Amino acid sequence: MATNELDNRGVVMACPACGKKNRLLFERLGDPLRCGQCKTTLPPPASPVEVRSSADFDRLIAAASLPVAVDYWAPWCGPCRMVAPELEKVAARQAGRLLIVKVNTDALTDLGERFGIRSIPTLAVFAGGREIARTSGARPAPEIEAFIAKAVSSSGTREHETHA
Ligand SMILES: [Zn+2]
Repeated sequence: MATNELDNRGVVMACPACGKKNRLLFERLGDPLRCGQCKTTLPPPASPVEVRSSADFDRLIAAASLPVAVDYWAPWCGPCRMVAPELEKVAARQAGRLLIVKVNTDALTDLGERFGIRSIPTLAVFAGGREIARTSGARPAPEIEAFIAKAVSSSGTREHETHA
C-alpha cells in the first residue's frame, strides 16, 4: 500500500495509476482529487498519516475541512501497537469523511507538551480548528469509530463553514 505523507499544505498521495504525487489540500480534504498528470480520480486517504512537524500539524488543524482524529503514540508503547491496526480499520472505513493522523510524542515532544498528553495512546478529535474530545487507552475499531462520531455530532462542527 502506498504511504501517504503530510506536508504543510496537505496530504501528498501517489496516484495509483501513474505514480505521480498529488497534494490533497487541507482545505479540500473531503473533495475528490484528480491526478494532475493522468486525470485518474484518486481515492481519499484511507490510512493514518504520520505527522512530521508541529508546524504541519498546526496548519492541518487550522485548515482541515474534515474532522481530524489524532493518535498520540510512541514506538516503545505496547498498547499503541495494539491500537494501530484498529486505527487502520477506522481510517479505511471513514475514508473521505475523516482524516486520521499519528503524532509520535517522542519525536514531536513540543506537541505532546502543548496538548498536555500524559499517557499514550491518547486519541483526540479536532474539528473547526479546535479539540472537541479526547480519550486514552487502546480499544477496538468500532468503539473508536463510535467515540469519534459522537464527538463530531455533538460539537456542531461537522462541516467546515466554507464548504460549498
Ligand atoms: Zn496519475
